[in-house]
Amino acid sequence: MLQIEGLHVAIGETVILRGLDLEVPSGEVHAVMGPNGSGKSTLAHVLTGREPYRVTAGTVRFADLDLLTMAPEDRAAAGVFLAFQQPVELPGVPTIYFLRTALNAQRRARGEDELGLVEFLALLETKRRLAGMDRKLLERAVNDGFSGGERKRHEILQLLLFEPRFIVLDEIDSGLDVDALQVVAKGLAALRTKDRAMLLITHHRRLLEDIVPDRVHVLVRGQIIETGGPELAEEIEEDGYGHLVDAVDVEL
Ligand code: ADP
Ligand code: MG
Ligand code: MG
Repeated sequence: MLQIEGLHVAIGETVILRGLDLEVPSGEVHAVMGPNGSGKSTLAHVLTGREPYRVTAGTVRFADLDLLTMAPEDRAAAGVFLAFQQPVELPGVPTIYFLRTALNAQRRARGEDELGLVEFLALLETKRRLAGMDRKLLERAVNDGFSGGERKRHEILQLLLFEPRFIVLDEIDSGLDVDALQVVAKGLAALRTKDRAMLLITHHRRLLEDIVPDRVHVLVRGQIIETGGPELAEEIEEDGYGHLVDAVDVEL
């Protein structure tokens, strides 16, 4: 479903990703782990087309599409979803209005009919319960003053509503209490289907105990230096990244 080859990314003159290869087949969940500053968020942002990242070499194919040539909104319409480490706040825009607008924009882009208000509210109520999100938050401005846990529930609600084909989650588990983590894990488990794939970016293993990944990739200084099964996450939890970094010749 996603195929990254030789990806080089810079911000200004600073090279951040240096020849990254990664393949995520349909139906699989892959984790990307790595120390702070290794380029994990950069990878997530490049996949969704955010500025100011500059792709200097490499290709990213999503299904049969050349992802890097597509505008961010076209990527979203094609089914790529990114949950941000720091979700965007939209002061003055009620969450319920934002969700309806975004869902209908996506439906139009896919050539589907917009949902009427009644239909939308029924769907929203079903998904809101699944995400365990407080109904009152829907009337408040998007993420405005939401607690960490409330933001994550909102992200899970968006995933359940938009049903993207490829999900990139950048540290969705950071700063979550146990209850919120369980909601996230449950939401993601519901989204783990044959026709969908996920990239979970994290440097904690906790989430990976609930959502056991098919593959774990270790990103260090802009390169994948090791790939393995779920046991690799346990190794890292115990030993850190040091021995993996020492074992390979990573260009500084
Ligand atoms: P991670 O998510 O793995 O912690 P990031 O992708 O956020 O890593 O950052 C990788 C490197 O790129 C870091 O050295 C960071 O300082 C740098 N970087 C990230 N965003 C910017 C930016 N907007 N301008 C300059 N440098 C940046
Ligand atoms: Mg970071
Ligand atoms: Mg990051």
